[in-house]
Amino acid sequence: MVAEQVVYNGNYLVETLANFINGEYCPPVNHQYINNIEPATGLVYGQIPHSDQDDLTLAVSAAETAFPAWRALPLEQRSEILLNIAQGISNNLDELAKAEAIDNGKPISLAKTVDIPRAASNFKFFAHACSQFASESHAMENSAINYTLRQPIGIVGCISPWNLPLYLFTWKIAPALAAGNCVIAKPSEVTPKTAYLLAKICQQAGLPKGVLNIVHGTGASIGSAICDHPKVKAISFTGGTKTGAAIASQVASQFKKLSLELGGKNPALIFSDCDFEHTINEVFRASFANQGQICLCSSRLYIERSIYDKFKNALISKAKALSPQDPLDENSKMGAIVSKDHLHKIKHYIELAKQAGGIILCGGEQVQLSGRCAQGYFLQPTIIENLANDAICNQEEIFGPVITLQPFDNVQQALALANDSQYGLAATVWTSNLSRAHQLAEQLQTGIVWINCWLLRDLRTPFGGMKHSGVGREGGNEAMRFFTETKNICIKY
Ligand code: NDP
Repeated sequence: MVAEQVVYNGNYLVETLANFINGEYCPPVNHQYINNIEPATGLVYGQIPHSDQDDLTLAVSAAETAFPAWRALPLEQRSEILLNIAQGISNNLDELAKAEAIDNGKPISLAKTVDIPRAASNFKFFAHACSQFASESHAMENSAINYTLRQPIGIVGCISPWNLPLYLFTWKIAPALAAGNCVIAKPSEVTPKTAYLLAKICQQAGLPKGVLNIVHGTGASIGSAICDHPKVKAISFTGGTKTGAAIASQVASQFKKLSLELGGKNPALIFSDCDFEHTINEVFRASFANQGQICLCSSRLYIERSIYDKFKNALISKAKALSPQDPLDENSKMGAIVSKDHLHKIKHYIELAKQAGGIILCGGEQVQLSGRCAQGYFLQPTIIENLANDAICNQEEIFGPVITLQPFDNVQQALALANDSQYGLAATVWTSNLSRAHQLAEQLQTGIVWINCWLLRDLRTPFGGMKHSGVGREGGNEAMRFFTETKNICIKY
């Protein structure tokens, strides 16, 4: 924790971020800050408010004041403001993409083509969704009619992780606002910059004061305080399973609405009748995109024995051709790991794999770049085989550029291996046998199954995980339902 200061770190002027409360940027009440480190350089390049209960009190008060007018605003006007925000994000694509690449270490090309466009799409989608969101009516024969009202909840809390910073931040905020709520949002302390920039876009888009309040800081301080506050009636959280469990027990006695999108250990089932070239390319992308730091990344690859060696060798040669580069280089396909701690965590898992008899087929080592990135956190794409399915590295989420390979002999075995996990977020199946694909889709214990594709997203579809991967679903009407309170009205005639 440091006091506010302005310094030059050799690359950038260290910038001091501010909270966004009641429509204005403001410093934390305690004037305490946390250093923000650029993963590609290992240097401090920003300071983030170390917010606490006092900042939350201001945010809740602003949200409370703003709520009556925001919920009463005609849908068309609410929708127009959200569309303005979407446009503002698109207009600032370059600045936001650069901020995301610096903050997170992801390749700038990925931020430009995936993260930032998707953040704009989130607002666009829910700007339209709120005008299409209808509720049910149930007629009782000759006696009564019921209709369902879905009303804004009031003040809701949105807490998001560091891996897809603006993408996931807006995936929560957009439906919460569209449904007529006021929001208190906390981005990850590791990647606060685009949330900070979003505040200015919201100001310019005409979002009324207090409707969205963004408070920065640690999970332990401001994150936990948001969950605890009695006036915050619902929590939408994306992050690790342990944090999700802590939040669930923290809010249980207050009976808050809770949506939890948690970790994954996603299986890919690769059959010998797959379209080999397409599958290799897509499975490789699913394994290493964003340095493997996407909750939906495949991390356990089950390959039919008859093509095991061919598939393995093709993966290895692709992995050897992929090396980390400066995320700000437009040609970079692989960037930095998000933090030093996370890099050490991933390296520790690689050591555990070796101790369990795992064979490192390629990668496994930290990479030192030259020039401005000499102190950055880079790791080779890593492929491991010869681990039992119950080995730690096949059971725990590593959340980095590390995958394991196992052969299988038949569909039942592949299914059993895939389902042998505490997680249940996403699975992919690679086969040209459609009937087998349907059967597997029915039996895989995951909230999402992609057949012959990965990360193909239709924002109307339910998104979320089973088992320890989460509770509830986001996306489309699921999100609109989560962010509203349901009331049935029965009229006798
Ligand atoms: P964390 O669980 O560590 O943190 C997520 C967010 O919660 C951060 O903003 C964090 O703040 C905050 N937080 C931490 N502790 C608390 C607390 N006690 N109360 C309230 N908020 C808290 O996850 P990571 O940021 O490390 O993200 C990686 C994880 O997210 C992986 O497990 C990944 O699978 C999962 N994830 C799941 C997705 C899904 O849709 N299912 C999508 C993307 C990621 P701070 O950063 O300041 O500590």
